[in-house]
Amino acid sequence: MSTWSETGPRTVEQHAAVVAALLHPTGAETVPLAEASGRVLAADLTAGVALPPFDNSAMDGYAVRAAELAGASGEAPVDLPVAADIPAGRTDVGPLEPGTVARIMTGAPVPAGADAIVPVERTDAGTERVRISAAPEPGAFVRRAGEDTAAGAVLLTAGTVLGASQIGLAAAVGRPELPVRRRPHVLVLSTGSELVPPGEPLAPGQIYESNGTMLAVAVREAGATAEQLSFVPDDVEKFRAVLAEKVSDGVDLVLTSGGVSAGAYEVVKEALTGHGVEFGKVAMQPGGPQGCGRLDLGGATVAVVTLPGNPVSSLVSFEVFVRPALRAAAGHPAPVRPVVTARLAGGLTSVPGKRQFRRGVLDAASGTVAEIGGAGSHLIAALARADCLIDLPAETTSVADGDPVAVWLLDG
Ligand code: AMP
Ligand code: MG
Repeated sequence: MSTWSETGPRTVEQHAAVVAALLHPTGAETVPLAEASGRVLAADLTAGVALPPFDNSAMDGYAVRAAELAGASGEAPVDLPVAADIPAGRTDVGPLEPGTVARIMTGAPVPAGADAIVPVERTDAGTERVRISAAPEPGAFVRRAGEDTAAGAVLLTAGTVLGASQIGLAAAVGRPELPVRRRPHVLVLSTGSELVPPGEPLAPGQIYESNGTMLAVAVREAGATAEQLSFVPDDVEKFRAVLAEKVSDGVDLVLTSGGVSAGAYEVVKEALTGHGVEFGKVAMQPGGPQGCGRLDLGGATVAVVTLPGNPVSSLVSFEVFVRPALRAAAGHPAPVRPVVTARLAGGLTSVPGKRQFRRGVLDAASGTVAEIGGAGSHLIAALARADCLIDLPAETTSVADGDPVAVWLLDG
């Protein structure tokens, strides 16, 4: 089998498929409802009870036999004794005797024999006797047991992403917890001898380390968990020592930044080549130099994706390769960002043969997108103001003002 470096650059699609295949699908775990937000349901949710569980009143008013009020009107109200008072939560409601009504509140059980509710607004609101000035239709304002869902029905299917309404439904059918797909766990490790932690003084030639925190946050935003390791200098032994210490059974992915391009001191490349991780080029910009594989740990293996160090390259490659792979591994039904078409405001040129992901700001109202910053992969300030990526196909060399372009929505 020929290696990546022999076969030449991969397309974005090819590399995305290779990265996605490195991650194993995560299993299931059970979490309390309040922790299920944003998680992927691991098994179908069936209704433990019918909804509503019993016939109940949709209004504050009176439970009646509709036939006894057939002629009631404003001019000819019907006067009946109030035989019972039924607030919500009463569990000992007896049947309604003929010729009587029961005062009833919203959500309270409708007594046997009653077949309609008259809202209090159509009565004199009496408590001993009540004058009713409207003739209800049979069934009026009665919420029937099971009309929302029958007991045993499948309410949500496995793979559903859980939000407020889905979690509310689980609670409504009596579930205190839900089975969800486990979040993939990611180790994030930056490399570079020029790096200094934010908060410390910078010497000439040094820069603040930003990829580690950025990628750890991006991992969490993708629905995975991240452990951000202290960055290491361009020292192969130190890099290997950190991996040896930190990689354990619970790690689904090791995500590194820096040290993968064609220069000298490419620590990640030197440390991992020949150990299950391949390095090569992807025909894209930013993010050309990439690496990935399953690192051989002497028996076991762990998925590794090595991103380039330029912050824009790092985050764009994360968006294009890692985020979809993490979400797919966690069973997410929509692993990729939403893509829309917008008209480009201002022209753009692009190098042939490389798919470009330019940073953009979308004006949804006018359906236009404008580039922010330039093509340079060190322009992190512009990246931070972008809300989308403008996806220019490899064969595109120029786009004119007003032409349609594909836009990845980063906020979606
Ligand atoms: P590299 O991929 O290691 O050759 O790095 C490419 C560029 O990205 C260099 O200018 C590095 O200084 C910068 N860089 C690499 N890693 C980081 C990081 N963790 N935080 C900020 N900048 C970085
Ligand atoms: Mg470096």
